Amino acid sequence: MRGERGAGGAGAPALIAADHVVQPGGILSPGWIRVRDGRIDAIDGGPPPPSASPVTRRAAWALPGFIDMHVHGGGGASFTEGDSSEARRAAAFHRAHGTTRLLASLVTASIDDLERRCDMLAGLASDGVIDGIHLEGPFLSAARCGAQNPRYLASPDLGAFSRLLDAARGWLRMITIAPELPGALDVIEAAAEAGVIVAAGHTDASAAEVDLAVRAGVSHATHLFNGMRPLGHREPGPPGALLDRAGASDGALTCEVIADGTHLHDAIVRLAARAAGPGGLVLITDAMAAAGMPDGDYVLGELAVTVSGGVARLRASTDSETTPATGSIAGSTATMELVVNRAIAQAGLPVGDVAAAAATTPARRLGLGGETGALRPGLCADLVLLDAGFRLQAVMSRGEWV
Ligand SMILES: [Zn+2]
Repeated sequence: MRGERGAGGAGAPALIAADHVVQPGGILSPGWIRVRDGRIDAIDGGPPPPSASPVTRRAAWALPGFIDMHVHGGGGASFTEGDSSEARRAAAFHRAHGTTRLLASLVTASIDDLERRCDMLAGLASDGVIDGIHLEGPFLSAARCGAQNPRYLASPDLGAFSRLLDAARGWLRMITIAPELPGALDVIEAAAEAGVIVAAGHTDASAAEVDLAVRAGVSHATHLFNGMRPLGHREPGPPGALLDRAGASDGALTCEVIADGTHLHDAIVRLAARAAGPGGLVLITDAMAAAGMPDGDYVLGELAVTVSGGVARLRASTDSETTPATGSIAGSTATMELVVNRAIAQAGLPVGDVAAAAATTPARRLGLGGETGALRPGLCADLVLLDAGFRLQAVMSRGEWV
């Protein structure tokens, strides 16, 4: 549908009237947005003035387009295997579900494999298909590896990290590391120094070890609570230490959560949101290829996964070495559309806070805050329209309806 008339791309402007327009500073009820040449040209409260041009679309809610910092695939395609056309399909699937920017997440594999995939994905990032790469592994804890292939888990190593950083040609935006592993602090320092967001995840660290890692450069939590030592009242572990830091850091340290109703109880999502505070929470999908697809058999990296009732779990294999924990949850089948709906309608988070966690905060963390992540004049026209029940109705990406 590129170049659709009145879409706000080149040519006639698009004018959107909404019962509620969600901005970082508050909600305009009602409000309107004018899009011209791919950018948000004007926004204001009240009905659109007659001079603003005819209304081309009406909706209950207008929010900034979602930004997913942690996603492996969707629509039957993935970033973790397959070629670049498959990766394009995965990105397009999520775009249709409201994700206008994303990091392509890889899972643990051999360094040679990861190097090749980083190189392929860097090409797609240069083309604007994705906004960077997230390495989930291979420097992760065997005790908390979840659906990461234990065969390829590795000790943190500066040489291996440099190879991956070089292969990504400036597009490595985030790396998930277990900070308690020997050598981890050196890699954390090197990654932070290179401008890569360092996330603690798949970790068995104590709270004291997390504190050391934060001093070395950890500034994000990978799917908080999942794949980490649990919160205890005498040993807060990574969830306690990272949430505590997030709440006190004014957004410098952020925690991502999978608010799909399967990975976390809605009460935990509320607790995390309150503890991390505005600007400290990031909603992600951690979706794999099965997102948007029927129940059945799939793969994540080299591991076999069965999806039943929308929940992806590792399937038993005859090769016990590559099946770490049969039944482990293996990514999600969620979309940002779904987690945003759940965070508002089930967890009961305020819509403005959800828009921050789904767009504004990840944009800031990725250095894209001057370009996207909010409904503000001058920014890229990346936005979603929702109905009164917070169901997705339309997606605009860079001024074009998807
Ligand atoms: Zn993941």
